Amino acid sequence: MSLNLTRFARPDRGALFVVTGASGTGKTTLVKEALATIPNLSFSVSATTRAPRLGEVSGRDYHFVSQERHAEMVEAGAFLEWAEVYGNRYGTLRAPVEAALERGESILLEIDAQGAEQVRAALPDAVFIFILPPSIDTIEARLRGRSTDSEAIIQRRLADARLQLSRCGEFEYLLVNDDLNSGYDQLQAILIAELLRARRRASLVSQFTAG
Ligand code: ADP
Ligand code: 5GP
Repeated sequence: MSLNLTRFARPDRGALFVVTGASGTGKTTLVKEALATIPNLSFSVSATTRAPRLGEVSGRDYHFVSQERHAEMVEAGAFLEWAEVYGNRYGTLRAPVEAALERGESILLEIDAQGAEQVRAALPDAVFIFILPPSIDTIEARLRGRSTDSEAIIQRRLADARLQLSRCGEFEYLLVNDDLNSGYDQLQAILIAELLRARRRASLVSQFTAG
């Protein structure tokens, strides 16, 4: 049975989705598919000091900024959260997240566990999803298959993966990205269930309770 999202009713209040998981678990792949299928869902483009990978576009995948610019943005309070991951700094821009939520739209952040913890403290209503690999060996194979990182970076990402995985119990939803189609279905199921919550659908409630 495939999900039919074409008649999916827009909630009055959008949701802030936070997707976390170790590098190489397939977060970016799953998130891209979710953005293409779930209506009124946008992606929060983070700022990073890391160099762009082949095919990455500034403003679409990340805002690529210098160390100095990142520090200025931290100082100015421009980030909802920020963290250092594998020697590079990343941060979620506060303004676009707040603007999307104020418009009643949903927004999705793909950030690490340190960042997720900061978002939880600032916005406890956010929905936290952790992407798990079928095994650690799978992460290694996927990172090598992606061919975007040097051996030293792959080793660093694997060491950090163990650390990130050990925090999975802090998240509300666990998604095992084994087969990609199953991963897509699991992510869609989580996003849709959250958007159907009564607390996000005041106008539907009043339609049936008024008078
Ligand atoms: P992350 O964003 O978590 O670092 P990516 O989405 O870049 O991970 O995925 C890492 C690599 O694994 C990519 O080459 C991607 O195509 C591949 N991949 C992602 N999900 C799966 C899956 N379920 N099965 C096989 N390969 C996958
Ligand atoms: P990558 O360099 O592979 O795109 O991302 C490396 C790690 O940084 C991933 O775990 C990713 O989720 C995380 N990350 C990306 N953007 C942000 C952000 O804005 N904040 C935080 N805390 N982590 C981020």
